Amino acid sequence: MARHPRWQEGWWGPARRVASPNFGPRPAGTAVTLVVVHSISLPPGAYTGDAVERLFTNRLDHDAHPYYAGLRGLEVSAHFFVRRDGQTLQFVSCDQRAWHAGRSVWRGRENCNDWSIGIELEGLEGHGFEPAQYRQLAVLLRALAGRYPIEEAVGHEHVAPGRKADPGPGFDWLELRRVLRRRRPRLVAGCGKPLTKH
Ligand SMILES: [Zn+2]
Repeated sequence: MARHPRWQEGWWGPARRVASPNFGPRPAGTAVTLVVVHSISLPPGAYTGDAVERLFTNRLDHDAHPYYAGLRGLEVSAHFFVRRDGQTLQFVSCDQRAWHAGRSVWRGRENCNDWSIGIELEGLEGHGFEPAQYRQLAVLLRALAGRYPIEEAVGHEHVAPGRKADPGPGFDWLELRRVLRRRRPRLVAGCGKPLTKH
């Protein structure tokens, strides 16, 4: 992989681009300072197939699995989806506002979608994540921090406590800190807490 991955209008070169219609403009003059880490798999716990990709592009076959029926009409997206093997998809330009965090607040500031990047890891709350995912997340965070004034990476559970619990206790923030440190310490993780730039 290139040392300095190329960006094209908010699209990250190394990611496979799968454009989603679920996005909008960020409020004018908004600096992107936050990364929100999520976990998702469809059906929950299944790490094969393309259902997540289909969900984020409004192409999910809602009759294909009982769980999908409850997702009918849902219009959501994230900027990135990192699969178990580290393969990364991008659905929305980082210059645009993706629909991943919902009702949310961080450090007293609401509507995190306005000023954040959403990264979905293929996984399930309570399950662990793959080394390839930590490595790729570190690469992606570094690339993001090189283009946007990113200050922190936090979990969806941190910006929507009580409502959301992903990525959950199976996500090891310390491991993320370890792989980040190995790859140029631009962002430093807290202990089991969100990442903060030091
Ligand atoms: Zn989430």
